[in-house]
Amino acid sequence: MITSMYNADMYPRLQETLELYKDYVALSSTKSLLDWDQQVYMPVQGVEFRSLQMGVLSRLSHDILMGEPLQKSLDLVKNNADLSPDEMKIVHHLTKIISKAKKIPASFQEKKTVLCSRAHAAWDEARSKNEFHLFAPYLEEMFQICREDADYLGYTDNCYDALLDQYEEGMTSADCYKLFETIKKPLTEMIHLLPKDLPEGIDRVYGKGNTQDVLKTHKEILEDIGFDLKKGRLDTATHPFCSDISPSDVRLTTRVIDYIYSSYSSMLHEAGHGMYEQNIDEKWNGTPIAGGVSLGFHESQSRFWENVIGRSAGFWKKYYSKVQSSYPMLEAVPLEKWLRYTNIAKPTSIRVESDELTYNLHVLIRFEIEIAVLNHEIKVKDIPGAWNEKMKNYLGIVPKSDREGCLQDVHWSVGSIGYFPTYTVGNVLCYQIFEKMKNDIDHIQDYLDSANYRPIFHWLCKNIYQFGKYYKPKELIQKVCGEDLNPKYFLKAMEQKYLNV
Ligand code: MG
Repeated sequence: MITSMYNADMYPRLQETLELYKDYVALSSTKSLLDWDQQVYMPVQGVEFRSLQMGVLSRLSHDILMGEPLQKSLDLVKNNADLSPDEMKIVHHLTKIISKAKKIPASFQEKKTVLCSRAHAAWDEARSKNEFHLFAPYLEEMFQICREDADYLGYTDNCYDALLDQYEEGMTSADCYKLFETIKKPLTEMIHLLPKDLPEGIDRVYGKGNTQDVLKTHKEILEDIGFDLKKGRLDTATHPFCSDISPSDVRLTTRVIDYIYSSYSSMLHEAGHGMYEQNIDEKWNGTPIAGGVSLGFHESQSRFWENVIGRSAGFWKKYYSKVQSSYPMLEAVPLEKWLRYTNIAKPTSIRVESDELTYNLHVLIRFEIEIAVLNHEIKVKDIPGAWNEKMKNYLGIVPKSDREGCLQDVHWSVGSIGYFPTYTVGNVLCYQIFEKMKNDIDHIQDYLDSANYRPIFHWLCKNIYQFGKYYKPKELIQKVCGEDLNPKYFLKAMEQKYLNV
């Protein structure tokens, strides 16, 4: 029988432990479900009661993790010499989760949660009014609380390492410097070489579409590429995201807004996250090995479907006429123009709207500022100035306002400092994996040209998705690519794509 929870027959020596852990899994996934509902359906005024629900669930799930029964049962099995390799792996992961949770005092966690909700509200107001000073005191506090967080978690060289490790296990600020050092110069040089006379208007095709028609086409594409709608769904939300309630309940959102391309790129991006979650080997269901291995790996998958597939000629040759029929104004935009439009590089202030060539420089700017503020090299009040100066240096543009500058992203307001480099890991890893895939799959270009993605989907399942968290991120890169993270494939692809048009 297929089950979303653990398979008791597979882990006979861990039955009691996994039975206790099951409640933690169920409560955590209920939090995800409530969060999904909040972003998709919940009425505005439901927010206060929803916060209460989330708080209670957090406390209950934390209690299970910290509780004596789970701890005792884990200690007992640790001494069992008969554990299978899979059981040992589960025990190792569970021990790691519990010891990490133990490092953070409950009172500190609560203080951070309260700050996040206040800081998020302040950021929202500051952003809409374009007044950075309204957010600054909260951001000051946020950086301080993240320094304390890093102290609890522990680090050797830079407090940034402790924060980054939560999102990309084993990666350090030194790794980030090395990665950015390799890509910064070639990318800024390529941006310099871009034609200056790109026509206005081609970088945005706007128009109103019929929501039902658009979603129908989205779902058709989802099924074609490998997303299982019997184990998932698609809805609309202001900020697209993917929520994995369980491996057989993975929910995507996209937006059906005036900026047409964004609806398709968001859908493909979130589908990449979703297909990863849907295709982890069922034997890990309900164990700590379930779920994608790191944010960087996850992002490599979302960016693969968004950029490698979603900007390709084969994809649009197959789907463009359907997309046109949902948006009447596209009748005037021939396929060739649309394809050119999806593959144009032009610096923009907004990270999420930027092309592949300029995207990582947005990440670099945030990384450099985060690390400088954490280490007291620049003050929070000076962030807007530092931001604009870096934008000018790296991308040759200055945002019109802080709203389009340092206030554009939600991450700082919810305490996600140390998160951004995972975006660049994803972008770079995506092309490294693609290179390997091209070597492994015969006639891959024919499949890409005819938009037949089955062989690609199966390759990803076999080489990446199935393993869940079994390997550490760096181990999995080695296993898949036979080398460490290497940005050369990404740089080569950028050169071919943007300088040869
Ligand atoms: Mg993503």
